[in-house]
Amino acid sequence: MIRYCKLCLLPDTKPDLFFNPEGICAACTAYAARKEVDWKTREESFIKLVREINVKHRSPWDCIVPVSGGKDSTAQVLKMLELNLNPLCVNSTTCDLSEIGRFNLQNIKNLGVDLVEFSPDPVVRRKLNRIGLEQVGDISWPEHVGIFTIPVRAAVQFKVPLIIWGENSQNEYGGPASDALSNTLTRKWLEEYGGLLGLRVSDLHEAFGIPQNKLIPYFYPTDEELQEVGVTGLFLGHYFPWDGLSNYLIAQANGFKSFGKTIEGSMVDYENLDNHQTGIHDYFKYLKFGFGRATDIASTNIRRGRITREQGLGIVKELDGRYPSSCLGKKLSEILDPIGLTENEFGVICDRFTNTTLFSKDHNGDILRKPDQTPIKINYTNVE
Ligand SMILES: [Zn+2]
Repeated sequence: MIRYCKLCLLPDTKPDLFFNPEGICAACTAYAARKEVDWKTREESFIKLVREINVKHRSPWDCIVPVSGGKDSTAQVLKMLELNLNPLCVNSTTCDLSEIGRFNLQNIKNLGVDLVEFSPDPVVRRKLNRIGLEQVGDISWPEHVGIFTIPVRAAVQFKVPLIIWGENSQNEYGGPASDALSNTLTRKWLEEYGGLLGLRVSDLHEAFGIPQNKLIPYFYPTDEELQEVGVTGLFLGHYFPWDGLSNYLIAQANGFKSFGKTIEGSMVDYENLDNHQTGIHDYFKYLKFGFGRATDIASTNIRRGRITREQGLGIVKELDGRYPSSCLGKKLSEILDPIGLTENEFGVICDRFTNTTLFSKDHNGDILRKPDQTPIKINYTNVE
């Protein structure tokens, strides 16, 4: 049986999610603690820290802002401009960039910032997508690695010591208390929470024959390189209250475009717009851990009192973990084709990564599914 947080809808099957003795998850506990935060003082300490680092290092830009082109990074860039900072934005191209993702990235440039787009070799990337999917059940493995390594490599390369990341996902979505309260992103944080799933970049050459020189973008800089520039990565969410919906509204008022209809497997139309493979990533999360993107978003909105837990539950039952027959309007077969997989082969991989104990079964032991193939969970509420 899956046990759920008493306040939101996060399940105890979520990796690294801690529950207190009252049955409340770490994400809800961390959110409640935010009410105690003196944000004015945090903002002042942020400005002071940025000033100190820049006076010490005299870097050409005030900071690096890693940008996907999404609502959060758009809001992050706007915040930097509001604080009169001159950021160097760094984008790591997604695995299967959508048209709307391209539009929103262009929109960030037009806010009035310098932006470096780094696109790792797409031929190698497609191999890594397949390795990620087959080995650890995550097609987005190379993208998640690159999102964390490429901006840090850029910091070293362009000699800009300060990197401003967005939210600390361990605070927003739940994690060990000491890591949830962290204001910095370090190599240790990346290795624990960056989504490496036990597959190491250093293994890819020997195990899969990927040439070493094609793996450069995926390696975190060495400690010596980081120390030479004095690289520090801060979470903006530690200094300013973080909220996905507010970020969307701010971004939208500044040219950001949403999808216009609810994204497959999600419950909103304004996030995860930049990669057609995201639907597969989210579906595997559902197969492995029994929850998908709709659960995450519903839970953040329940915590903020925008919907009740019951309303969230209704949405999650209907939308969560949807079989990714399409993503952002692109058909599954067209998403799989470039990585050399058919839908049948994909199905076999899905089965391999399905935690069958999380789903209802018929008397033959086969998993029960909705008409669109989505497996039905064993329980949606706490079974006392
Ligand atoms: Zn919770």
